[in-house]
Amino acid sequence: MNTPKFDIAVIGAGMAGLICAQELQKAGYSVVVLEKSRGVGGRMATRRVSGSRADHGVRYLEPTGTFLQQLIHNLKTKKNSPDAEPILQLWTDKIYQLTQPQGLPLPIPKNCYVAPQGMNSVGKFLAQDLEIWYSRRVQTMQPLAEKNWYLKLEVTNNAATEKPTEVMAKAVVLAIPTPQALMILEKPVAEIHPEFLSHLRFVEYDPCISVMAGYSLALQENLPEWRAIAFPNDDYLDWVGIDSSKRTYPTQPVFVIQSSAKFATTHLDTPDLQPVGKQLLEHTAQHLLPWLSAPEWLQVHPWGYAFCRQPLDVSCLTTELPLPLVGAGDWCGGNNIEGAFASGLAAANWLSHILQ
Ligand SMILES: Cc1cc2nc3c(=O)[nH]c(=O)nc-3n(C[C@H](O)[C@H](O)[C@H](O)COP(=O)(O)OP(=O)(O)OC[C@H]3O[C@@H](n4cnc5c(N)ncnc54)[C@H](O)[C@@H]3O)c2cc1C
Repeated sequence: MNTPKFDIAVIGAGMAGLICAQELQKAGYSVVVLEKSRGVGGRMATRRVSGSRADHGVRYLEPTGTFLQQLIHNLKTKKNSPDAEPILQLWTDKIYQLTQPQGLPLPIPKNCYVAPQGMNSVGKFLAQDLEIWYSRRVQTMQPLAEKNWYLKLEVTNNAATEKPTEVMAKAVVLAIPTPQALMILEKPVAEIHPEFLSHLRFVEYDPCISVMAGYSLALQENLPEWRAIAFPNDDYLDWVGIDSSKRTYPTQPVFVIQSSAKFATTHLDTPDLQPVGKQLLEHTAQHLLPWLSAPEWLQVHPWGYAFCRQPLDVSCLTTELPLPLVGAGDWCGGNNIEGAFASGLAAANWLSHILQ
């Protein structure tokens, strides 16, 4: 079979990659999105467990910047299917912050939007009409003499292999965290502009461990009036949210607990994360609600590259040597969803200009 050829290959179907791919496709380019996991959204992630949903990545969207304001405005009326509820809706103003272990949580004003079907439904919306190859991890990329990048893909998740395992493109977008980008660029390292690589090496991330826990429906009546608490100074915790309060029809109380960077750094490489999740839950129970220590089910997800510590001072990272290559994501400009959106857009604009 001949290697499929596209104008642009976008690596990563998180916010940055999806926005970039959409813009380039609208501009008339042929685009393929290569994604190592089974779904879209990247860290804007939702897991289905025991008939419930849990957002173990992005907690909510806030209309603080121009791009999210517009996205939220659109998604308040859009649906992913005709009989579904709107993709985004206002969640709560009952978010608190606990600055001292023995203190009282203080309310913090927030204008939070959440997706009743799970935060990954935002990704699903943005992915509409895009050509996405799931369960394809880009392993290496090399410039060919005929002015095309050649990308070698690994099949992940034991997925059926009806999609190819190689692709060619005139330009490539790396819409993934920088350590993952460096893994791909390792092989042709001598041919990539050294400044491009040194910028990638400069970026650092904090990890996070997310715990999802589901409880007996009988405890629904015992839920507190707060919806989430942030812990800016805790050694263990960063965030505790009543995730089931985001759902229109919750089937049981579900909590999502996100660890501090310090806790995650200590435990991330533990082979069995289940006891680590239990430890985080015990700590939460001691602070907030004793019954939290006895869930019906518990799942743990490690995020190796959760939060970019210090993003680069550019909206995207570009080079034309040896061929057009652009890096985008929350490591360019702003270390959040708004930053990833703006960076994906900037990458698309740069490529449109270069490829014209
Ligand atoms: C626990 C947690 C909570 C957060 N809460 C918030 C919040 O409330 N508000 C906020 O604004 N931000 C929040 N963030 C940060 C936010 O999630 C990120 O800033 C944003 O999602 C980054 O988007 P991105 O497109 O740059 O990267 P990602 O979302 O990381 O997307 C990258 C994609 O690339 C794929 N990929 C990686 N390597 C390869 C490869 N070799 N081949 C193919 N595919 C690959 C990945 O599977 C992923 O889908 C949170 C993050 C975490 C982890």
